[in-house]
Amino acid sequence: MKLGSVNTCPECGNKNDSGLGIEHEALIPREGDASICIVCGHVMIFKADGALREPSEDELIEIMRSKTVREMMAALAVIRRDRPS
Ligand SMILES: [Zn+2]
Repeated sequence: MKLGSVNTCPECGNKNDSGLGIEHEALIPREGDASICIVCGHVMIFKADGALREPSEDELIEIMRSKTVREMMAALAVIRRDRPS
């Protein structure tokens, strides 16, 4: 799904303009939802205007408690590792 705005990842500089919900196919992100950069795996939080911000330490701990998030990050790491350079 195309997002309403383009967000530049503060970690790798990738311009993220699309996203997929990990629990619902056509999920529209809401304020406070987490986002994982497809290129580097950096975790961010959606703001009300669709832009992204860094998570607080407590938010990051809560996000990383999710088994689904940990599995997705592991899958992304495998994809990055196996991608031809
Ligand atoms: Zn990134």
